[in-house]
Amino acid sequence: MKKITILGSTGSIGVQSLAVCKNLGYEIVALSANSSIDQFEAQVREFSPQYAVIADEFAYKKFADRISDLPVKVLCGVEGLCEIAALSQNDLVLNAIVGIAGLRPTIAALQAGHDVALANKESLVAGGKLVTELAQKNQVRILPVDSEHSAIFQCLNGFEGRCKPKKLILTASGGPFFGKKRDELQNVALTDALNHPNWSMGAKITIDSATLMNKGLEVMEAVWLFGMHPQDIEIVIQRESIVHSAVEFSDNSVIAQLGVPDMKIPIQYALTYPERHPCEVPRLSLKEIATLTFYEPDTETFECLSACIEAITRGGLYPAVVNGANEQAVKLFLAGKISFLQIGELVHRSLNEIDCSMEQYDLDDVFRADRAARDFILREVM
Ligand code: NAD
Ligand code: MG
Repeated sequence: MKKITILGSTGSIGVQSLAVCKNLGYEIVALSANSSIDQFEAQVREFSPQYAVIADEFAYKKFADRISDLPVKVLCGVEGLCEIAALSQNDLVLNAIVGIAGLRPTIAALQAGHDVALANKESLVAGGKLVTELAQKNQVRILPVDSEHSAIFQCLNGFEGRCKPKKLILTASGGPFFGKKRDELQNVALTDALNHPNWSMGAKITIDSATLMNKGLEVMEAVWLFGMHPQDIEIVIQRESIVHSAVEFSDNSVIAQLGVPDMKIPIQYALTYPERHPCEVPRLSLKEIATLTFYEPDTETFECLSACIEAITRGGLYPAVVNGANEQAVKLFLAGKISFLQIGELVHRSLNEIDCSMEQYDLDDVFRADRAARDFILREVM
């Protein structure tokens, strides 16, 4: 029975991770949430963690009062998140926080010598070099939760150190606006962008899927996780979200991972690795699916994707810039302040506004680049 800390337990991945842990009989050491007090209180009462962190400092007192009858230590802020990420009791830390807010806790867990099951792609995008170097130095694993990276990880299983893949084939659903051109996307409503055809996810990643920023973030994530050059990562639209990604070897043999589109499979594999256990998801019936369709992505319409490929190809802190620019732009789109197409335009322009080509940088530089990108977006819009 493993002992797990889940960061971001009230989110889409967090809730599914708790369900997987419950099914596996894993013990919950600590949980965290940002500000959704009611849901978090219910989770703390059900799973009896030793620690509960409420990231939003304004919600801390109210939350602490609510659960004062329980023998749980309540902490707050990013310090609290880093403290539970580093607890000696942890066998594994699952990071399901959204955004760059996940970066410091990821580093705290790796620094403490814990394996990290990583859903928080932004921490790998913005801090990929620092995060992967730290994992290597401390000989701990980053186990991907993102379904595409879990697929690649599963395809590569057993080949480590024996044959390096020639290409990674990263699949994408194409999102709700697949096939549409810029003129058809002028007046996209928020509700349309939040309506993903195959996956039910948090708001930010759902918008990222509609703009294809999500695929761009995943290219950068794959570069760091699997040590690949961006040009060796091919993106293919797979409309049904059944082929979760694939790996091509030097002999042109391709190995893919398939399954129903349900995040419980990659979440559970990251938790039980290297073992497999029965999982509460439906079987994949290829006979029922019958047809799988594949297409080229449209990088002209979906500018975020081309911006991300350019950022990771340029290197330095450019990935942190496009990530920060996108986080700020998505916030503004969700608040009704900018249009759908403006997200891509602004993310693209952020690449040319901020010089971030340095190869040597530390964590403070990453946050500075993130801040500069956010400030650029705010200046452009306000
Ligand atoms: P979500 O918005 O549903 O949940 C986010 C969680 O993070 C919540 O628990 C929230 O309380 C917490 N949080 C938000 N802001 C915070 C802050 N500033 N500090 C600390 N905690 C904060 O998001 P999600 O869809 O579960 O996604 C989580 C991460 O997993 C994202 O990085 C996303 O890209 C990635 N991911 C999600 C899916 C999915 O199916 N939802 C799939 C692959 C990868
Ligand atoms: Mg994904």
